[in-house]
Amino acid sequence: MTTLFLTHSACLDHHTPEGHPERAARLVAINKTLGEERFAPLARAESPIGSLEHIALCHTDHHIVELRHMSPSTGIVYVDGDTSMSPGTFEAALRGVGGSVAAVDAVMKGEAANAFVATRPPGHHAEITKPMGFCFFGNAAIAARYAQRQYGIERAAVVDFDVHHGNGTQDIFWGDRTVMYCSTHQMPLFPGTGSQGERGEYDNIVNAPLASEDGGTEFRFAFEQLILPQLKRFSPELIVISAGFDAHYRDPLASLNLRAEDFGWVTERLMEVAAQTAGGRIVSVLEGGYDLQGLSESVAAHVGALMGA
Ligand SMILES: [Zn+2]
Repeated sequence: MTTLFLTHSACLDHHTPEGHPERAARLVAINKTLGEERFAPLARAESPIGSLEHIALCHTDHHIVELRHMSPSTGIVYVDGDTSMSPGTFEAALRGVGGSVAAVDAVMKGEAANAFVATRPPGHHAEITKPMGFCFFGNAAIAARYAQRQYGIERAAVVDFDVHHGNGTQDIFWGDRTVMYCSTHQMPLFPGTGSQGERGEYDNIVNAPLASEDGGTEFRFAFEQLILPQLKRFSPELIVISAGFDAHYRDPLASLNLRAEDFGWVTERLMEVAAQTAGGRIVSVLEGGYDLQGLSESVAAHVGALMGA
């Protein structure tokens, strides 16, 4: 079985202000890398449009309606200081939801071993009731809930190695004993949440903050000592990865020092857990990663590992 790669050209039409790090060139770089010969075995599909019903698995109707109303017909409108909408943003965000749902379908039906969804805008900062931090809809969280509702998955896990804490995903699953959320992230850093003491109502949140200038050694230690043991005990039937690559040493938004091989390493460890408890099922969803070279080589290591399944 193959790895499925989902993306859509409409995600290039989410325009951010000049100089904004979350830009269309990120997806262009990923497409170029995954277009190389060594990635020829990937199955490829276009992300469908996500439905409002799927978004409502994790967000309030008000949040959805408000964003649709704010969507401009020309120019750019700001949702907060660093989150903005252009005319193409709403469809791009819907492609992120649809791609995540389609990836779950493919993996749950056994049509793909695992899947990588490369869409933008990203999702893990979007809270139940509001967009935030470049994010509109929680794609990874929606994937987990959709798998539960559609396929009867009892326990799903979302593992987030983006350099920022996924406050949105944590908000969505804080009181949900059926979903474990695990995150490594630099702290202190935006959005300010993610201390180890934030554990959720059912000890279902596992935060492993890292310090500025930490690198692969500390990152791997956090997974081996804290995240992987609890993940194995939880025994998820599906693992969703919030795959942000901004902990790469070249990234301009943070100061962790991961290298591409660290992203390959963590992917392999998560595949081992998935093989034990989830029939190997992994759905990986792109979050951050803002240095184009760092992003490209990290995505190559991540997807290369997934293809080794
Ligand atoms: Zn990030």
